[in-house]
Amino acid sequence: MKKHNFYAGPSILSEYTIKNTAAAVENFAGTGLSLMEVSHRSKEFIAVSDEARALAKELLDIPSSHEVIFLGSGASMQFCMVPYNLLNTKASYLDTGTWASKAIKEARLFGEVEVVASSKEANYTYIPKDYTVAPDSDYFHITTNNTIFGTEIHRIPEVSVPLAADMSSDIFSRPVDVSKYSVIYAGAQKNLAPAGVAIVIIRKDALGKVSRPIPSMLNYQIHIDNDSMFNTPPVLPVFAALQTLRWYKEQGGIPALQKKNMEKATILYDEIDRNRLFKGTAATEDRSLMNVCFVMNDEYKELESAFNTYASERGIVGIKGHRSVGGFRASLYNAMPKSSVEVLVEAMKSFENNI
Ligand SMILES: *Cc1c(COP(=O)(O)O)cnc(C)c1O
Repeated sequence: MKKHNFYAGPSILSEYTIKNTAAAVENFAGTGLSLMEVSHRSKEFIAVSDEARALAKELLDIPSSHEVIFLGSGASMQFCMVPYNLLNTKASYLDTGTWASKAIKEARLFGEVEVVASSKEANYTYIPKDYTVAPDSDYFHITTNNTIFGTEIHRIPEVSVPLAADMSSDIFSRPVDVSKYSVIYAGAQKNLAPAGVAIVIIRKDALGKVSRPIPSMLNYQIHIDNDSMFNTPPVLPVFAALQTLRWYKEQGGIPALQKKNMEKATILYDEIDRNRLFKGTAATEDRSLMNVCFVMNDEYKELESAFNTYASERGIVGIKGHRSVGGFRASLYNAMPKSSVEVLVEAMKSFENNI
């Protein structure tokens, strides 16, 4: 049976990414060797790394003021690398969920952290909009998409200080004005590649302003100076990222992906709003296009596990909600085809008809 993969992360990748990566694991770039057993300093792998960084720049329209690097160990490492490299005296953070609060906790190790607003008291069901950011902040950190709670920042806040953003679960899903950011980072396993690497977009002139010593591996400048090859990068995830980026380009780039993402999210939210069994958990205007969170209405609550089973019998995988929200979460990343969302919507309709 065809599987429809709605996992939140690691999550669905394009068939193009998986096939080409599998082929390179057997025979990489005609070398007769596996991608996993070739020097990262071979000309074949350097070409992969260079093309991946160049394609990321092209797709996101990244200005020459910024550099792109791939770093091992995921988004959580960036929670500390961002303040390590950029927080001199004070930074401001917006608390919109579990990941945002983890970023805040790490930043506090490096200086004064002002949490300008939080939606924690409402279990992070909305994005706070009424706040001011101190103009003497070194940066203002936001989490553009809250993977666990299904909210997304649809309008980037107008503030007088540079932005820093965790875009782990919505990078490449919509256009970004990179010039507004000192740093953007994303763990690869939501919208790019297998786990093990993060993509970091960094404004070069934002670096070198902190006085603390920075260990080499945590120093953005060192990774930039070494063309993202200071140490052995996670070669397989970087190779897979390149395949995904090529596929994004082939799909028509970011605007085309955004259009598809809007279509997919619309058909699912429309069904959640129409179906008497279900309701969405996020504030309507803050609904994420990537992670759609919904629960069963109170009078049908006891049917949640039955729906999960019903869905899995139709090949629908990974829709169980995160424990802090409950219910369901359907993740609709770039590689998710509209036809799979239609299968989920059909299942919701036919389940309702059987009640
Ligand atoms: C998944 C996720 C993370 C954590 O990523 P790791 O690579 O596991 O460290 C951080 N932020 C957001 C928004 C996420 O979705």
